[in-house]
Amino acid sequence: MNFELSNDQQNIQHHLNDLLKDICTPEYVSQCDEQQKPPREAFDALAKNGWLGLIGPEEYGGAGGSPTDLAVMLDTLGYHFEELGLWVFRNLTYGCFAVLKHGTKEQIEHMVPKVLKGELSFCFGLTEPDSGSDASALKLKAVHDGTDYIVNGRKVYTSGMDISDYCILVTRTKVLEKKQQGITNFLVDTKLPGIEVKKLATLGQRSIGTTEVLYSNTRVPESAMLGELDQGWKCVDNYLCYERLCLSAARTGAARAAFEYALEYAKSREQFGRPIGKFQAVSHKLAEMKSMLDISQTMVYRYAWLVENKKDTRADAAILKLYTAESYKSIADMSLQILGGYGYCMEYPMQRFFRDSRLATIGGGTSEIQKNIIATSLGL
Ligand SMILES: Cc1cc2nc3c(=O)[nH]c(=O)nc-3n(C[C@H](O)[C@H](O)[C@H](O)COP(=O)(O)OP(=O)(O)OC[C@H]3O[C@@H](n4cnc5c(N)ncnc54)[C@H](O)[C@@H]3O)c2cc1C
Repeated sequence: MNFELSNDQQNIQHHLNDLLKDICTPEYVSQCDEQQKPPREAFDALAKNGWLGLIGPEEYGGAGGSPTDLAVMLDTLGYHFEELGLWVFRNLTYGCFAVLKHGTKEQIEHMVPKVLKGELSFCFGLTEPDSGSDASALKLKAVHDGTDYIVNGRKVYTSGMDISDYCILVTRTKVLEKKQQGITNFLVDTKLPGIEVKKLATLGQRSIGTTEVLYSNTRVPESAMLGELDQGWKCVDNYLCYERLCLSAARTGAARAAFEYALEYAKSREQFGRPIGKFQAVSHKLAEMKSMLDISQTMVYRYAWLVENKKDTRADAAILKLYTAESYKSIADMSLQILGGYGYCMEYPMQRFFRDSRLATIGGGTSEIQKNIIATSLGL
């Protein structure tokens, strides 16, 4: 296993940093957050410069990049603006990885080249009001009718539904004894009649945020089915492991940005006649944060390597998600403490890291659920 980034991977970091430092300025990021405005200009700049094609196969217009290339890109995007990283992750996980792995030739040819150019955006509708951690207990119904399926029910926390062209919607097509059976995925056009989207007010992640979606007699053509009828849970499991790599990479980048801000502050803020970083209580926090960051980054590249070499397991993905999410939450919390009163003021960016990072241990499977997965892998 080689943890050293190749020259090409270092170039990915270098070029993305060059592009984003002028777009994702602190003012731009805070405006997106305050005005609940998606970072469209930054997304379009990534598309224009070909970045959204990084991991797509060459035959569909991509650059054929590896999972490590993906991790490097998302880490860098997360450093500049976490929600930009999450927008790109949703497109590449649901519009590229999921469609390539489970889609028909027609679905792949119709969607993937457009995703890689940034012309189509994707989101994921799994969670429902009564099924969060117990996700496979979902009830949203899809009933076969002629050449369509009629969909009825409610999803919550479908992030980015209001800015997406397609949602991978996870539905109940049959009620069977085992709740993981009778589940079917569809590539649903988000503008179909009978779909109502409501943005939810949240603590953080306010630029794109998340939505509640009501489906009332929505007719979805059977050609939109992704994967096999009633066998959709296996696909969901695949997406969630890939998602855990992407989320961990983007959030490790965001954690690094919070850390660097706090480090600079600790060097420049003086109290009792010296920089606060000279006090052991402050410097030890920074030392702990630096250790967590280095471990997180190493774990992200290790997991990407496992994926690249087809050696990854569900437990590996859970360990990665658990550690990087808890680290991001702690790093944002400690960074805010180092900034003292400024950390608590809305005028400075630290409060956004604090609010945004709080989702890390909840979204994409809570920390408690990751521990359950790890414990099961230990035979417990
Ligand atoms: C901002 C945001 C964005 C999101 N984006 C998406 C998205 O795009 N698509 C999507 O489908 N979902 C999305 N989610 C949903 C997210 O994945 C769920 O919120 C998460 O899985 C937890 O489900 P829940 O909120 O229903 O909590 P619950 O499942 O009700 O859990 C409540 C508490 O109980 C604990 N708990 C539950 N069961 C167990 C158990 N067996 N053992 C130990 N502890 C347990 C949990 O860890 C948690 O602390 C998003 C959520 C948020 C808040």
